[in-house]
Amino acid sequence: MDTVRNDVVVVGAGIIGLTTAFRLLRAGHAVTLFDPSPAKGATFAAAGMIAPSAEIAPGEFSNYELQRGALAAWRELASDLEELTGEHLRIEQCGTLLVGWDASDRRLVEQFARVAHGFGVTATRTSREEWPDAFNALTPRVDEGLFLEGDAWIDPDQAVRILQDALSLLGAKIIADEVVRVGSDDALVWAWSESGEVHARYGVIASGARGLPEGLSSRHNNVVRPVRGVTIRVEGLERNELPTVRSFVRGRPFYMVNRRDGYAVLGASTDERGDSVIEAGELSRLLRDALDLVPALESATVLETRIGLRPASANLQPFFEVLGESRWAWSSGHYRHGVTLAPLAANDALHFVQGTP
Ligand SMILES: Cc1cc2nc3c(=O)[nH]c(=O)nc-3n(C[C@H](O)[C@H](O)[C@H](O)COP(=O)(O)OP(=O)(O)OC[C@H]3O[C@@H](n4cnc5c(N)ncnc54)[C@H](O)[C@@H]3O)c2cc1C
Repeated sequence: MDTVRNDVVVVGAGIIGLTTAFRLLRAGHAVTLFDPSPAKGATFAAAGMIAPSAEIAPGEFSNYELQRGALAAWRELASDLEELTGEHLRIEQCGTLLVGWDASDRRLVEQFARVAHGFGVTATRTSREEWPDAFNALTPRVDEGLFLEGDAWIDPDQAVRILQDALSLLGAKIIADEVVRVGSDDALVWAWSESGEVHARYGVIASGARGLPEGLSSRHNNVVRPVRGVTIRVEGLERNELPTVRSFVRGRPFYMVNRRDGYAVLGASTDERGDSVIEAGELSRLLRDALDLVPALESATVLETRIGLRPASANLQPFFEVLGESRWAWSSGHYRHGVTLAPLAANDALHFVQGTP
């Protein structure tokens, strides 16, 4: 059996595992990263919004506080990646325009404004008359909304590509296998996969909605459940450098993140399910909401649909749990915010491995 010895083994190469591996390598640790299909989990479906203000929800203040630090952490990570790879990760801080499609959706926007006020978020009322560009391509029935300054987005496809380049430059060992079982003693951890056994001093599980592999359990009753979501990629609508559009449409949340060259991500459905099939009804609801809010999408080209399983914890908060007395830790529960929180999760992993608080 092939036995490899490393500083840290990371299980899962979604955005959490990739940023974790990068942070550890950059700090001088040897890393082995396992994933049978790197970056094809929830990360693949994500729109890439880093939008603490637009993501606020009643009772989720601590989550909002956490996310507020994320943009600075992404800027730091991006500059570190650029120094190493020469590749520039685009971070677009264009804010969010939140609107309501009909009268009851506009009441939801009003409710949102009250929660935002309670959280201390600056939500400025704006209108088509005041800022016609921001309302460009939206249905004429929408002519007012809230502008949430500061929200941003990255393109997760680009982030993943740069991270993977960085990992290979830093000499990460990447094994395209599923870890089926893990173990540990006082000095070492080990992970088994089809290609053999890997030993390391520490291990981090970043397996998204899949949960813990055999051999580990949570002491704090942490669990993750999959919450399925679909996004649609389209091309043909220019809204360059304008705010991301968020809306309630018939009570359902909808967003459109516009990238360069008329490329946009439309999202997202939310289903408490763990299967990865896209249903016709789900897709048609998302497209109907999109076309009702943005009639100009009528002639856009549908490039692809993507599906992912958000890893949701019982209280919808992310967690970084050191598992028992072991040398394993579990980084998960990032739910709707894993792209946003990835650099912070990576810092947690570094502190764990280096024994710092
Ligand atoms: C439709 C949708 C839109 C989203 N939009 C946003 C957004 O705009 N902004 C934002 O911040 N977040 C967003 N999210 C949430 C975000 O995508 C997730 O929180 C994040 O991707 C979780 O990252 P992860 O690395 O934990 O999981 P994943 O990306 O799912 O990666 C887990 C990886 O672990 C691997 N794995 C699992 N088990 C094993 C094993 N035993 N051995 C080896 N490998 C294993 C899997 O193959 C997978 O590649 C969205 C999610 C969805 C579904």
